[in-house]
Amino acid sequence: MPNDTASPSHGADAALRARARRVIPGGMWGHLDVTRLPEGYPQYFVSAEGCRLRDADGRECIDFMCAWGPMVLGHRHPDVEAAARRQAALGDTMNGPAPVLVELAETLVGMIPHAAWCLFQKNGTDATTVCVTVARAATGRRKVLVARGAYHGAAPWCTPSLAGVTAEDHAHLVHFDYNDAASLEAAAEAAQADLAAVLVTAFRHDIGRDLEMPDPAFARAARAICDAAGAALIVDDVRAGFRLHLGDSWEAIGVRPDLSAFSNAIANGHSLAAVTGAERFGEAATRVFVTGSFWCAAVPMAAALATLTELRRVDGSARMRAMGERLRAGLGALAERHGVGIRQSGPPQMPLVLFEDDPDQRKGSAFCAAALRAGAYFHPRHNMFLSCAHAEADIDRALEAAAAGFAAVARMG
Ligand code: PMP
Repeated sequence: MPNDTASPSHGADAALRARARRVIPGGMWGHLDVTRLPEGYPQYFVSAEGCRLRDADGRECIDFMCAWGPMVLGHRHPDVEAAARRQAALGDTMNGPAPVLVELAETLVGMIPHAAWCLFQKNGTDATTVCVTVARAATGRRKVLVARGAYHGAAPWCTPSLAGVTAEDHAHLVHFDYNDAASLEAAAEAAQADLAAVLVTAFRHDIGRDLEMPDPAFARAARAICDAAGAALIVDDVRAGFRLHLGDSWEAIGVRPDLSAFSNAIANGHSLAAVTGAERFGEAATRVFVTGSFWCAAVPMAAALATLTELRRVDGSARMRAMGERLRAGLGALAERHGVGIRQSGPPQMPLVLFEDDPDQRKGSAFCAAALRAGAYFHPRHNMFLSCAHAEADIDRALEAAAAGFAAVARMG
């Protein structure tokens, strides 16, 4: 499987990029913006199956990004695709929802301990926006506490970018540092009687820095602040949801949110997001006007039911954990053998590898570029994702590719 060209400066990927530059501003937008792609990485893919991707130039690699999260069972999972096809044969976007909406809502309410109700959307940003809207409607207040550096989506109220966004869009956000209960308490103090919600990601997964699991004392402080103020504790589980736990990701530390936002992995690549909420917020959820032309589409809901069923059947979280641990142990041994210092962080299902003495991520980029040439798609800055399609042989094959990456870093001195 080794791929012989590092950077697709010619070929199908390059041709597509050139055409895109003429009709798409900058050639691509957002997190897939050409300037953000790791060195030597292709932009276009033609097919995917299980944990393997094929790029526009026909190069195959073992995928450790899983479409930035969604492919929790692996690409084109047969049961999920069969369920999607069955629903598609009946109808997808109709004048109203299909029965599968009720079945999926019942399933989520049954699975997620705090959930008494749920609402569906399309993207993670929709879900975090709905959570904040419901919290504000329920409390009649404005301030939302968010961790510095956390990503909650691309809408004006939460985007990390300043272009096209007014100061007023962010006026009611108050910042704290993740896992720092004192800074959270100070932020709550600053919000005073206007505190509507504390919004936290399931764990700290800011780009380019070591991942941090939530400190249970910090999570309990967040719960206590919300209880004392009558505010909503919102867990943004868009990225982590269903990979770490089949309930919500804070279930493992025993802290229950009032509202949770889910999306990435919920329907194994079909576009769906969900907000689940506690009873106390149900009345406010009836008052907010949240909707979208495609929010009732039935195919992604059928795909979600099949995805959740399969995750439960195979104990997906444990399986991804085992494969992530195998990858982590193998990377650690290889780094040592090559005399290269690395730091590995995050849950094994969503790992990150950073290099010591690598402030500008040159080593990380060289590692990824060489590993990709040898057939494994890692990421130098963003947490990666395991799927249930990764088997031991895939991890071992990816480790062979990683060896080429470590050799490239070792040569940098
Ligand atoms: N919250 C978190 C924690 C995310 O990682 C993301 C992106 N996956 C979002 C919100 C926004 O999701 P989307 O890109 O689907 O709008």
